[in-house]
Amino acid sequence: MSEPSITHLISKRAAARKTLHFTDGPTNDPPKGFKAHPNPLPLHWGMPNNGFFPIDSIDVNLVEYPFQKSLSIPVTNASLESLSLTGSSEGGQTVTPPLVGASTKANSIRITRHSDDKKKIIDIASGLQYSPVNGLAPLVQFTRDFIERTHKPAYEDWDTIITGGAGDGLNKAAEILLDPEDVILIEEFTFTPFLLNVEHAGGIPVPVKLDISEGSNGIDLDYLTDLLENWEALKPGLRRPKALYTIATGQNPSGLTQSLEFRKKIYNLAVKYDFAIIEDDPYGYLTLPPYQKPQSYLKLGTFLTVEEYLKNHLTPSYLTIDTTARVIRIETFSKLFAPGLRLGFIVAHKKAIDAISKYAALVTRFPSGTSQLIVNNVIEKKFGGVDGWLQWILKMRVTYAHRRDVLLNAIFESEAYKNKYVDVIDPQAGMFVSFIVNFPEGTDIEEKIGLLVWKFAEFGVGVVPGINMAVEKKFSLDRANFFRLTYAPANTDEEIIEGGKRLTAAVQDFFDKGL
Ligand code: PMP
Ligand code: PLP
Repeated sequence: MSEPSITHLISKRAAARKTLHFTDGPTNDPPKGFKAHPNPLPLHWGMPNNGFFPIDSIDVNLVEYPFQKSLSIPVTNASLESLSLTGSSEGGQTVTPPLVGASTKANSIRITRHSDDKKKIIDIASGLQYSPVNGLAPLVQFTRDFIERTHKPAYEDWDTIITGGAGDGLNKAAEILLDPEDVILIEEFTFTPFLLNVEHAGGIPVPVKLDISEGSNGIDLDYLTDLLENWEALKPGLRRPKALYTIATGQNPSGLTQSLEFRKKIYNLAVKYDFAIIEDDPYGYLTLPPYQKPQSYLKLGTFLTVEEYLKNHLTPSYLTIDTTARVIRIETFSKLFAPGLRLGFIVAHKKAIDAISKYAALVTRFPSGTSQLIVNNVIEKKFGGVDGWLQWILKMRVTYAHRRDVLLNAIFESEAYKNKYVDVIDPQAGMFVSFIVNFPEGTDIEEKIGLLVWKFAEFGVGVVPGINMAVEKKFSLDRANFFRLTYAPANTDEEIIEGGKRLTAAVQDFFDKGL
């Protein structure tokens, strides 16, 4: 068998791209007898010495868990078993809880101009300096270690490159795969900004049906299989697909997650019909246990150990079954750390990373050093590396699960739900819920959704109609009777509950008034 490689799927434009390094030194052959100087001095790089940087050190003050400053513990229970989520502690007194998995390290780290541990720590002298296109070495190494631990690829020759977030990563993936007229399969409801990246590369998006129902894996496998088997008849004049773009875990907007078994079936199609898979996974680490009636506190015991989480909760990436190196995985720190960092990374075969690196050198150069410095050093110094970082993710996971429970409970308690006008799909990961409106048979869905959004505005609640995230509106109208909800931005549980009440009251009113 030949070595796994993605080379044949890389766009002609990306394959032809050159690099240019004018400071590399002579390009002609050395004269006879040339001997390199043992200690050459730099009068060539146009980079300012770090002594010109006005920042000498940066102190970063951190919390132990999300919402630490707004949570409190009811101390009526001397065993300190729970965290109040409302902030209204019964005893009136609050204390800092001894959290499971909490770091014993100080809550503050200092980043200095020079560090003695250059392998792990990014100091100011290197972090704020010109640096490699693929990212600063300690952070690049962290991303490799992190992927080894969470989603180890099924082949050897893979690597990572730091990006300016998933949005940037997606653009780079589209650019290195798609030539003009190349076709890319896309889940029919999707993160639509990606369509602009596809268009920019000259690609043609083709929607793939989704099954938006409880327990579904998302992509309609029968539809996709038939489409690929009968491509020439169904899509005359279009090239066979070069790639599939999928948000396999906590899909945006549906919230659906593909099981590992399902991923294997999709992957087999990718091998059979020779297309790449762009796996966009901003939400995958935020796995959620099934819905349960929410409590007014978080049980500390619900924090998993890292081992349990990796073994039984995290759905393995397509990378883990990628024996032919055709998966490009897009990661981001936006949802796990903070979106304003504009920081993420890509995992793929070295040839794909090389093509992405050449494109990055052209469009974004290297990612923000400040962001790399903060993320890397917080993870290393505060959390102590990969497992400590995963423990922070577990704390986010519990908080998100609670919020999901609060929102679904508010919907379950509503008239509209009891009247079966609405339904929800309990997400297994992420921050999105499909809120389904059961319009009567024969309803003009487009018209009713258009009216409902005004009803939601009247009742004071913001939602995203699924149809706004369709690749092709006409293709998807029959399956568009849903809205995307999210419990991510709310300040408090009360806000989520009130949002759920307004949402369902709006639908009830809509049905009461004869739609
Ligand atoms: N233009 C010129 C003329 C330069 O010399 C340089 C830096 N060497 C740049 C642009 C790149 O600047 P920046 O670091 O802001 O991307
Ligand atoms: N991909 C998906 C599926 C998203 O939902 C988002 C953010 O909403 C992004 C990519 C963009 O993420 P980033 O902030 O990392 O650019």
